[in-house]
Amino acid sequence: MIIIGAGGHGLATAYYLGKNHGIRNVAILEKGWLGGGNTGRNTTIIRSNYLQDASAAIYEKSRSLYETLSQDLNYNVMFSPRGVMMLAQTQHEIRGYRRTAHANALQGVATEFIGPDRVKELCPIINTDGPRYPVLGALWQPRGGTARHDAVAWGYARACSDMGMHVIQRCEVTGVRSEGGKVTGVSTTKGEIGCGKLGIVVAGNSGVLAEMAGFRLPVESVALQALVSEPIKPCMDVVVMANTVHGYMSQSDKGEMVIGGGADGYNNYTQRGSFHHIEETVRALVETFPMISRLKMLRQWGGIVDMTGDRSPILSKTPLEGCFINCGWGTGGFKAIPGSGWGMAELIAKGSSPLTEEFGLNRFREGRFIDESVAAGVAH
Ligand SMILES: Cc1cc2nc3c(=O)[nH]c(=O)nc-3n(C[C@H](O)[C@H](O)[C@H](O)COP(=O)(O)OP(=O)(O)OC[C@H]3O[C@@H](n4cnc5c(N)ncnc54)[C@H](O)[C@@H]3O)c2cc1C
Repeated sequence: MIIIGAGGHGLATAYYLGKNHGIRNVAILEKGWLGGGNTGRNTTIIRSNYLQDASAAIYEKSRSLYETLSQDLNYNVMFSPRGVMMLAQTQHEIRGYRRTAHANALQGVATEFIGPDRVKELCPIINTDGPRYPVLGALWQPRGGTARHDAVAWGYARACSDMGMHVIQRCEVTGVRSEGGKVTGVSTTKGEIGCGKLGIVVAGNSGVLAEMAGFRLPVESVALQALVSEPIKPCMDVVVMANTVHGYMSQSDKGEMVIGGGADGYNNYTQRGSFHHIEETVRALVETFPMISRLKMLRQWGGIVDMTGDRSPILSKTPLEGCFINCGWGTGGFKAIPGSGWGMAELIAKGSSPLTEEFGLNRFREGRFIDESVAAGVAH
């Protein structure tokens, strides 16, 4: 078995293949370094307050696996269930988030719609009055939070290695080999490797790998960026997402304010992001948190996210027999790493999984979209 991509999803897939299904003859091939793709570039928000049942199931499975991931991997991933709030700043958002809270109640996901006073109580540095949009309430998930993203990749990689799997870095896959419609191996910058099963788990590069395997994907690749400030004293112990003005922020353990920006409006592979987004994001956050107006920004970076039309992932068999694909997590797949790995491993090992059933490629042909554009379009 070969998995292409040593990001969180590829590594978690390998880990649960070994742990849950006893499949350990696995090589994970990575063109760069462990977690050097989106897994090591995101703003680490973990939540499961999605609208559709299929999404809530996989994201909540994932969130619950995060609760004990450090013990499971014997590696501290610093999961911090500090609570995530998504601000409602228009009447439309109030209706949308109330609806999500009701859906979550039916799905067994603990969320609630809270009013502006409770928002202020949970996060005193928020300006609830405006200036452009007042804070009218929020969708609050108390067991959402953050984790250390590099540690998630390193923890899974070490556990895979301990099971005898091969994690091969600086090994770019340049071609997919097949015979009679069935996958037989891959060509790489380190030579040819044969396999009976192949998992493509390469996020923003999914279209490129799919083309090598002879099929097309309904995904677009765009740059999404983030930035962090200089460290300051603890001033905020929840994650806040303000989707109307578009910015979101949390405070890292080091004290830096971790800030997420917008996705580029055009397809590209830059891993940088357009410059004007920095200004827009900072403007949105200064109006939401006026006290950060004099903070200096330390670093900015980008990743390439893979967006589907319905803003839901693809975990699926493909037209090439023996070849599976896990992609389309777009701007919000860090939170899904354990759950996606769990489901993908089951799909590869058994041919189907209740967690991945709705996320097949055929939904685009059959028009069975899992519309999460409100929960996942710009937010994380
Ligand atoms: C700025 C930013 C902020 C984000 N914020 C959040 C957030 O707060 N919460 C959240 O849940 N999600 C967030 N995300 C999304 C999240 O990071 C991704 O959905 C997730 O990390 C995808 O993981 P992955 O393992 O699929 O991909 P990646 O981590 O990108 O791994 C794919 C790997 O495949 C490798 N690869 C590509 N092509 C080849 C090849 N030909 N051969 C071998 N290897 C190859 C790449 O080098 C890469 O390491 C954010 C993303 C970005 C960019």
